[in-house]
Amino acid sequence: MSKNNLRIIPLGGLGEVGKNMMVYEYGNNILIVDAGMMFPDNDMLGIDYIIPDFEYLKENKDKIRGIVVTHGHMDHVGALGHVLEEINVPLYATPLTKGLIEVNLSEKGLLNKTTINTVHAGESVHIGPFEVEFFHVCHSIPDSVGLGITCPDGLVVHTGDYKFDPTPVDGWPTDFAKLAEFSGRGVLALLADSTNADKPGWTPSELVINDSLDKVFRTAPGRIIVASFSSLVSRMQQVIDTAERYHRKVAFVGYSMKQNSKMAKKLGYLDIPSDIEVDIDEALNMKPKDVVLMATGSQGEPYSIMGRLARGTNRRFELIKDDTIVLSSHAIPGNEETVFKTINSLFRRGANVVYEPLAGGVHVSGHANQDEMKLMLNMVQPKFLIPIHGELRHLKQHAVLAEESGFEKDNILVIENGQVIEFENGEMKVKDRIPGSYVFVDGSRVGEIGPSVVREREQLSQDGVVLISLVLDRQGNLHEEPEIISRGFVYKHDGDDIIDETRQKVIEIVEKTQGDLHNETVQSIRSFLYSKTKKRPVVLAALTWV
Ligand SMILES: [Zn+2]
Ligand SMILES: [Zn+2]
Repeated sequence: MSKNNLRIIPLGGLGEVGKNMMVYEYGNNILIVDAGMMFPDNDMLGIDYIIPDFEYLKENKDKIRGIVVTHGHMDHVGALGHVLEEINVPLYATPLTKGLIEVNLSEKGLLNKTTINTVHAGESVHIGPFEVEFFHVCHSIPDSVGLGITCPDGLVVHTGDYKFDPTPVDGWPTDFAKLAEFSGRGVLALLADSTNADKPGWTPSELVINDSLDKVFRTAPGRIIVASFSSLVSRMQQVIDTAERYHRKVAFVGYSMKQNSKMAKKLGYLDIPSDIEVDIDEALNMKPKDVVLMATGSQGEPYSIMGRLARGTNRRFELIKDDTIVLSSHAIPGNEETVFKTINSLFRRGANVVYEPLAGGVHVSGHANQDEMKLMLNMVQPKFLIPIHGELRHLKQHAVLAEESGFEKDNILVIENGQVIEFENGEMKVKDRIPGSYVFVDGSRVGEIGPSVVREREQLSQDGVVLISLVLDRQGNLHEEPEIISRGFVYKHDGDDIIDETRQKVIEIVEKTQGDLHNETVQSIRSFLYSKTKKRPVVLAALTWV
């Protein structure tokens, strides 16, 4: 009988920022850590979000023992709904994370089908052959945990997202003692957050936000609208505290904001004095100077409240004179363009927009900077280091930092999604590679949209569309002149009228073609237009017989 070995397979979050998902496998047992989503690049038109390709898990359904979730951010929980539709296994999460997952799953109607076990930092559970120890870490959301995962091959420490904030909003620092204890036991491998691997020093404490918010509240002449993620519970608390000091009322706007604040309040993670919160209708009837609205859309998402305000299409309320908008989050890498476009539109509509880096800290990162990353490594003292969470440049930089602090170069492994690694007799081996790409989600359609559709939409936006309408008689001859309609396609080229030339070309094609006229027209005109203009518009043909 062959001996079982621990295998680690990243399905998401390695080589990108977002959609984190890690698989731990021992014998016939799989433990999943996190299942997140990612915002699409700007050039992936019409795609709502992206989730990991978890085909491997579908194929190995019987082996899966559970899913452990480190915290409630969407890049760690956003794909859970899709995964649970295919794989029904128990979840393990801390109370606030559980609450956030429940809000999310109830929107998808999956809540009743799922078992979510509550765990607390400091506890441990047995899941198959794995013993999972949960330890508290500071992050930009309360109740975040890192994991100590023990199986017969040894102890692996999985940090999740973390920083070593000495003055966190909830007063609960990262569990140094546990990290030291792990190190005492001997750690086989450390899988650690690399998001800020190119940022020197320490990440500022969440506390600095209080000062920045204070300044905004002190000087804002009218209404204040704070845009953030609906899962940033500590940011909600800071806004509430500041509002209280400046005698303003707070209204949460939008489904996820309202649900999450209600849930966090119920679970005791959000302290809202009874006279501070008002509903949106009440808020809109009050003097602007007495009001703070808290909404989503800090990433400029087109259908968020912030996106709609920027376009002037929000139904409930519009921007008014003297509005101050605070964008309290970083633009997610790759998302900057959308965010800046939204900011420009908000300014254009007369709002004052406070955003990074101008405001000097209306947002601080929830992730460890370089010195904290070194500290983590030095405290845990693992045999092997596998950088996780980040684009390849972040993972590489994490490796460089480790080397600089004296870590054995050969014991660092920089890998991307889908790369299987296996531990054998205390050694780490790179194995085969499984698919580790992504699945597009567009509205409610999952995975039906392949890269080709995305490419087509990209073409549409860049090179436009050319529609050829043919009316033919029963003999297959043209009944009238072909009609050529173009949208977004530049057709004046070197003084030639490309549309006229295209029409001539179409007439030739109809005369010549014996077989599939539709296909022949589309193919030939596509290459004709490319040869003439070096553009690739989407070519469509409509054939009518009379
Ligand atoms: Zn996070
Ligand atoms: Zn994250």
